[in-house]
Amino acid sequence: MDKKELAGIVIERLKKEYPGAECTLDYDEAWKLLVSVRLAAQCTDARVNVVVEDLYAKFPDVNALAAAEPDEIEEIVKPCGLGHSKARDISACMRVLRDKYEGKVPTTFDELLALPGVGRKSANLIMGDVFGKPAIVTDTHCIRLTNRIGLVDGIKDPKKVEMALWKIIPPEEGNDFCHRLVLHGREVCTARTKPYCDRCCLADVCREHTEKK
Ligand code: SF4
Repeated sequence: MDKKELAGIVIERLKKEYPGAECTLDYDEAWKLLVSVRLAAQCTDARVNVVVEDLYAKFPDVNALAAAEPDEIEEIVKPCGLGHSKARDISACMRVLRDKYEGKVPTTFDELLALPGVGRKSANLIMGDVFGKPAIVTDTHCIRLTNRIGLVDGIKDPKKVEMALWKIIPPEEGNDFCHRLVLHGREVCTARTKPYCDRCCLADVCREHTEKK
């Protein structure tokens, strides 16, 4: 079976297993997802969802956050870890939105990528979740699972994984597929423990599992 065929099977199996495929960061406006995705680096989405409530209570819109001093932001976001650099990036990013985009989130990948603190993973997430465009979000779960399953071969670099997946995942499937990999990575194909292959819907097609047998 080639990688495209394998990808098709994995996509369909994960759809059945996880019919909902939503981002686990809470947001109701695009700029809030930009903030949350920066805070989510090395932090759980659950914690980010709590911390942003305090942040938005004090700074309810782009202008308020852009006007805040980075250390005021840091004071609130430090429970997410890396508070200093996250606050600095959020401040700079909101100032660019205010000064260059009239408080809106830009709609192209390259413009998103140029925002302070926004990398390919975040830019893809915004493209997919906010604008409904094709997206491949290569977070830690995506990288671990696609290597184990055999969709990519020993690639750890996020951009290289993304580029390899663009070749085998139908563009319109990419965003939901990556959300489902996160769910599967948390619940079954876990990082810290031995993966629960005995209850995995991909066991018969997964390279790591079938090679062990
Ligand atoms: S069979 Fe095991 S290693 Fe493969 S995806 Fe499932 S849990 Fe992960």
